[in-house]
Amino acid sequence: MTVDDVSVAIKAREFIRLCGPQALPVSVDTYAAQIGGVIKEEVLDENEDAWSFRDPNGKYRICVNCAHNPRRQRFSVCHEVAHVVLDVPADHSHPSWSYARRPAGEVACDVFAAELLLPHRLFKPRVDAADMGLASISALAEEFEASLVSTGSRFAAFSSELCAFVISEGGKVRYSSRSTRLRDAKAWIRPGSALPVDSNSARVRAGAPATGPEDAEPEQWFEDFDRDASLYEDARHFAQWDQTLTLLWFEDHELPITPSERKQGSQWINGLRELDGVLPWPGRKRRR
Ligand SMILES: [Zn+2]
Repeated sequence: MTVDDVSVAIKAREFIRLCGPQALPVSVDTYAAQIGGVIKEEVLDENEDAWSFRDPNGKYRICVNCAHNPRRQRFSVCHEVAHVVLDVPADHSHPSWSYARRPAGEVACDVFAAELLLPHRLFKPRVDAADMGLASISALAEEFEASLVSTGSRFAAFSSELCAFVISEGGKVRYSSRSTRLRDAKAWIRPGSALPVDSNSARVRAGAPATGPEDAEPEQWFEDFDRDASLYEDARHFAQWDQTLTLLWFEDHELPITPSERKQGSQWINGLRELDGVLPWPGRKRRR
């Protein structure tokens, strides 16, 4: 999360508080009502999620694409609410699925919408209690009536484990959401990289049945990765969009240090020795 994302998330949480107590799945009608809005399903262009306008009576009319599934419509409503609350004018010239070309204001509205649909206060405890795996993410998506993509992205972002949720299209990584621990460990998945050959993800994409988590090779997924650690991979493929969803997680809570870190560590000690031939550690002399 960038600094901007954090401030947007805080604004979303303030907005949620104004809307009163919540039950699951959260009511998007309540969110719309909070800004004087009403929701209407309309026939829109296939790639258009929603549009909205203020009518002469001051009502904010949110028109969602009736051809989209209900979970996507719920996200679209929250996105339209975000435009009003954040006071960001809509720029829907780029399709919502195009991550790379999305204007900053639209990204902010998506961050706000994800917070509304999967509120931190309700979602985070469930993430903490969940087993790792796409089955858990799928169950949470049902419970929150949110898409697998939004739920998985937030699951990884909120997880206290070393994990990543990866969205690939056409066999190439488009986007990945990593847990704080994984980001701190600098385990990086390059966007645009091909699904690792013979990985669980590549095989389900090729038509193999999704049979649950399997062992994976961390160096195949993470760039310049040289740690000796056990990685698991769970994957599902959606042929109609050639979209592959992958959850990666390490068995352990911490990653072992890398050979280069070990080398740097010994260089540091050697460096000290060079500076002062007597002292391998600062203060050692006094204790003698
Ligand atoms: Zn928008």
